[in-house]
Amino acid sequence: MAIATVNPATGETLKTFDALNAGEIEDRLVRAEQAFQDHRRTSFAHRAELLHRAADLLEADQDGIARTVTTEMGKPLAQARAEAAKCVKAMRWYADRAEALLADEHPDPADVRDSGAARAVVRYRPIGTVLAVMPWNFPLWQVVRFAAPALMAGNTGLLKHASNVPQTALYLEELFRRAGYPDGCFQTLLIGSAAVEEVLRDPRVAAATLTGSEPAGRAVAAVAGDEIKKTVLELGGSDPYVVLPSADLDKAARIAVTARVQNNGQSCIAAKRFIVHADVHDAFAERFTARMAALTVGDPMDEATDVGPLASEQGRSDLEELVDDAVHQGARAQCGGRRPPDRHAGWFYEPTVLTGITPSMRIHQEEAFGPVATLYRVADLDEAIALANATPFGLSSNAWTRDAAEQDRLARDLQAGGVYFNGMTASHPGLPFGGAKRSGYGRELSGHGMREFCNMTTVWFG
Ligand code: NAP
Repeated sequence: MAIATVNPATGETLKTFDALNAGEIEDRLVRAEQAFQDHRRTSFAHRAELLHRAADLLEADQDGIARTVTTEMGKPLAQARAEAAKCVKAMRWYADRAEALLADEHPDPADVRDSGAARAVVRYRPIGTVLAVMPWNFPLWQVVRFAAPALMAGNTGLLKHASNVPQTALYLEELFRRAGYPDGCFQTLLIGSAAVEEVLRDPRVAAATLTGSEPAGRAVAAVAGDEIKKTVLELGGSDPYVVLPSADLDKAARIAVTARVQNNGQSCIAAKRFIVHADVHDAFAERFTARMAALTVGDPMDEATDVGPLASEQGRSDLEELVDDAVHQGARAQCGGRRPPDRHAGWFYEPTVLTGITPSMRIHQEEAFGPVATLYRVADLDEAIALANATPFGLSSNAWTRDAAEQDRLARDLQAGGVYFNGMTASHPGLPFGGAKRSGYGRELSGHGMREFCNMTTVWFG
């Protein structure tokens, strides 16, 4: 894939970039290692000052960088601004809390004595340079949710961003440099995915975090496994959105639309499969479909647009194939199911609700990465849970019920890294984020996310 900015709203190539050559990559690895040796010794107060400065700069840049993001990957401008604001919040969150989150832990004194020690502590030390392989869909947020905790922990970062968001990737490198981070603390590597293996095998790279598709996760984890290096994988999802009879149906239908089409439907934690109890199915379906059909599809720079283009031509054809496969096998598009007829340039697709889904259809098992919802009718809670779990993925899940017994069952039985009741899944710096099954392993955000890339060290005094 060429490293280039291609506007998804027009299909026009705006800027192309050369990939780094071997010498340039080597230079960055040297700098990362040197920076780590200094950065790991700095105080939390110093690191917090740097990260606060980066947050302030990003806040000031919010509108400009939002336009770059929208130009590169097509999300509506207001959502790009909100993404930048969320990054600012996460940076400040980690700057203010990292020291407490990584404070020494004191084991039970009886265990310390029993081990023969006069004293023992558990200390979280930085692990080294972490390679971050990141996707284009939240091109600021995915990076910041890795970089803020990593830099606060004393690690250094190398970013291999998706090839279609190079200007956003370079902006991030420059942001940390402007904030005063020493040379090498956070660097962008403009490289294609084929060059990742060599970087990851380099002894100066300690670990890797990847957010992206299952094949990319598998490739990176295989190399890291061979090198005995730690990985965190945040992969795809096909989150269920279960609606039960006690739900507030108006609210459930309204939030369902946002949960499905935010980011033009290209979010790992988007609700993708809508599983609705027979008692309320028709009432929910009517409200949901009407709202989906009423969305404005158009230029993502236009403030009136709800849904912009898909990020790439390939992404749109993948989505079309999933829908066409389902329709050919008997599924019905209650709305959408096609490109908007009035848009001839760009990679637009109409918000779509599919019913009549059967297990042989690809969309029943695969992730629909665009504004396409599948709607299922179930007879009871057991069937809802079985269907929700009938997917290789397990990122997050959503359920609408006010019944405490049903909530207990769902929180116990849904196979996912999150169970969100009466609302949609959304990440927050203070809550751990990550998946089960083929959605990956490890966690980001909160203290748990930061400790993934620490060397948890037992310090024992005889
Ligand atoms: P992708 O094609 O897997 O790309 C993600 C990153 O991996 C890019 O930087 C890409 O580089 C790189 N990459 C691809 N193949 C690779 C390989 N064999 N070896 C090393 N690196 C490789 O995914 P995407 O299309 O950008 O993003 C969509 C997917 O990400 C969806 O499945 C979505 O659900 C998932 N996602 C998950 C989360 C989460 O938190 N769980 C969040 C967002 C997105 P190039 O661009 O150069 O190919």
